[in-house]
Amino acid sequence: MSNFLVAIDGPAGSGKSTISENISARCGFIHIDTGSMYRAITLYAINNNLVLDDPNSYSFIDKINIRLSGDKIYLDGKDITRDIRNRHVTENVSLVSSISIVREKLVCLQKKLAIGKIVMDGRDIGSVVLPNANLKIFLTAESKIRAYRRLKEKNETINETDLIVEEKNIKRRDELDSNRVNSPLVVPAGAIIIDTTKLNIEEVTNKIIDLINERLNK
Ligand code: C5P
Repeated sequence: MSNFLVAIDGPAGSGKSTISENISARCGFIHIDTGSMYRAITLYAINNNLVLDDPNSYSFIDKINIRLSGDKIYLDGKDITRDIRNRHVTENVSLVSSISIVREKLVCLQKKLAIGKIVMDGRDIGSVVLPNANLKIFLTAESKIRAYRRLKEKNETINETDLIVEEKNIKRRDELDSNRVNSPLVVPAGAIIIDTTKLNIEEVTNKIIDLINERLNK
């Protein structure tokens, strides 16, 4: 089977994961959620009381095994799909993902996984991991709507105070992800930018699937 690689980048809450899942289900692509890998490393470091901003803490990285299977993620054989979404991990993942050794290891793993029909989402996919992807998409949306989506995902009743706090957290994460030295969040060369502020998931998914079909049929 020949490769067809779709790279989807964008800030937190722009819809990357949900849309990638839809593409995977409708077009038979394998979805690789790279954010979940950075979260797995963060979870391990937190659970082992490591000093998160010290690069020397991450020597464990060559000894652990991270495996994605469908929408699940396993760390040394243990299903950590739920654990990686906890607040403590979310608050620290941008710090952990700015550490060079962490990025080197995960980028290398992600490149190896890019065989066949793949939709990979993250922050540096079109720029660093898959610079030769067949299709590069950059999703964006206003920060308030991204905060609203994140709260909705957690099934929380949404009030104005929670929304303000979530928007602040999202902006902090955007700031860290966009300004780090190692592969920051950027619009990759050749990417198609889609602003999802006023679009629903279905509309964005359809748009991207049309682009995939256009390029597949070229
Ligand atoms: O996509 P998600 O919000 O789960 O990603 C969590 C964090 O992982 C991001 O805020 C970012 O710091 C980091 N990340 C990254 N590079 C990627 C994917 C995620 O630095 N390719």
